[in-house]
Amino acid sequence: PLFAQLGLSEPVMRAIDEKGYLHPTPIQAAAIPVVLQGRDVLGVAQTGTGKTASFTLPMLERLAGSRARARMPRSLILEPTRELALQVAENFTAYGKYLRLNHALLIGGESMADQRAVLNQGVDVLIATPGRLIDLFDRGGLLLNQTRLLVIDEADRMLDMGFIPDIERIVSLLPRERQTLFFSATMAPEIRRLADRFLSEPEEITV
Ligand code: AMP
Repeated sequence: PLFAQLGLSEPVMRAIDEKGYLHPTPIQAAAIPVVLQGRDVLGVAQTGTGKTASFTLPMLERLAGSRARARMPRSLILEPTRELALQVAENFTAYGKYLRLNHALLIGGESMADQRAVLNQGVDVLIATPGRLIDLFDRGGLLLNQTRLLVIDEADRMLDMGFIPDIERIVSLLPRERQTLFFSATMAPEIRRLADRFLSEPEEITV
């Protein structure tokens, strides 16, 4: 398969070219068209499969194609660790370099005041660990009522780290009408039950 067949626009294709990617990986080839259609995805994929681009590339497209009136977070990517959140943010910056979208990286161990200042300027995308997102929300000033695209990445690690109650709470703060992308390296029964709760008629992709 070719990236050119996946329905991505010129600014995103140019950024992919500059990364030196020649072909989409299997998860990218399967997930990108589905996400662009607005459907939910249940992706069973490990790190190293190109999973990050499989959700960030179509997210960039969806955001670029619909201007928000005020800059409110329209997408949220949840990661279990700060390291993973940082990697996703780096990817987002690289793939989005020809688009005018911005993000806030909301992770523990960094200044809350700085993160709040970034939020106050208005951001399109939040890349967060669950605990820090909730801390910021509880202090006020973080509005999630325009956040209609949610990514729950590394769900099995979220479960192992005890983050499911935090995620339930976060999901309860988002609009009901939304698109959800859920990724896990494994699909144990407990993970599948979670996926069933958070997803609506997902396309299931296993690589
Ligand atoms: P991930 O599974 O998202 O952590 O990605 C693993 C690595 O593969 C990262 O270093 C990406 O930059 C790289 N990568 C992602 N997609 C592609 C692709 N289509 N072709 C070549 N490398 C890729």
